[in-house]
Amino acid sequence: MTKPIAPTPHHASKQGLTLGLRTAGRAIIDALLPQSCALCSLASGSAPVCQDCAATFPALSGQCCPCCALPLSATQDPDCPDCRHHRPGFDSATAVWSYGFPIDTLIRDFKYGHHLYLASFFGRHLAATLQSHWQTHPDKRPDLILPLPLHPNRLKSRGFNQAAELARHTAKRLNLPWSSEHLMRVHDTASQAGLRRDARWANLRGAFACPTPVTDLNILLIDDVLTTGASLSACADALRHAGARRIDVAVLARTPEPARTHLTHT
Ligand SMILES: [Zn+2]
Ligand SMILES: [Zn+2]
Repeated sequence: MTKPIAPTPHHASKQGLTLGLRTAGRAIIDALLPQSCALCSLASGSAPVCQDCAATFPALSGQCCPCCALPLSATQDPDCPDCRHHRPGFDSATAVWSYGFPIDTLIRDFKYGHHLYLASFFGRHLAATLQSHWQTHPDKRPDLILPLPLHPNRLKSRGFNQAAELARHTAKRLNLPWSSEHLMRVHDTASQAGLRRDARWANLRGAFACPTPVTDLNILLIDDVLTTGASLSACADALRHAGARRIDVAVLARTPEPARTHLTHT
């Protein structure tokens, strides 16, 4: 079946242009100077994290829920408790690591400490995980990669969208189109921190929109961490409304515990 022409992705967003200059500057510095590990400060060659620290990143071990990537062995429940409570709007989720030390530290540095040089490192790992996954699930190979959007107010205060940086680097590695302008966060929802699980899902209903049709496309949604999946699910609903055929999710890390109301991620 012939697919409709995909909307033209914006390979260079406004954010990408500004950050591209910073990234180029960093690349020149990296080429001239050996790096020190972002976690232990020892020499790490051309990588931002040394091999010893990278070896301690928590893997997603055992059987995981095919829909939301929750490690099921940790729950002692044959069914996924998260999906039983709230079936996500997306079709499946893939994560590189389990959300724990020290990857949690690194992701927080990236997101809140503006350590943007980590985006390339993260994008490389995300791309490798996806390529491996698609060898056994070729139907999930996407037509277009989209990041979870920030509301313009949040984007203004933070200065960048970490999910867009991940999407940009991952798409480049995979030679796939991406866009930071298809999906919009139309409601500046209050912080999810402190809200109980059901309230989080209700709070995000209708928070996203996809005004550009994505008819019959396979979409890969990218974010840094999957906790409850409420934001990604609300995004998937908007994409489904815009005609997407399937929506898969890829994140750096999946939080391992089903009861996570104390965390700020959604
Ligand atoms: Zn190290
Ligand atoms: Zn699940």
